[in-house]
Amino acid sequence: MPRLKCGVDTCAYWHDKYCIREGIRVKGEKALAVAETRCSSYRPRSRTARNSFHLEIGKLGDPLHLEVSCEAVNCIFNRREICHAQEIKIDGTRARKSAETFCSSFVLK
Ligand code: SF4
Ligand code: SF4
Repeated sequence: MPRLKCGVDTCAYWHDKYCIREGIRVKGEKALAVAETRCSSYRPRSRTARNSFHLEIGKLGDPLHLEVSCEAVNCIFNRREICHAQEIKIDGTRARKSAETFCSSFVLK
């Protein structure tokens, strides 16, 4: 499981540079570059989401290491649609939807 940092502060699951989910799904089946990937687990921040986030963070033992399933099979860290990088970064500072996020750690095979 990679250690994951996230710069998408508009996401309901974002907290202080980290993602508080137990796992995420990255898309980009045909991606040949960073910009063609995206975090499909992104959800826009709302009052409801913020409340559930407070409940969720208390339940997690280590919010820094996440299970990352990934469709970007052209990335060197992808093995059978699971990310095996030690560390990854999801970005998209002003994202309002999943398509405006991306995995900065994508490296073309
Ligand atoms: S954009 Fe993805 S990695 Fe970042 S906080 Fe949201 S769900 Fe987690
Ligand atoms: S580093 Fe590569 S395999 Fe890992 S999530 Fe990003 S695009 Fe997918």
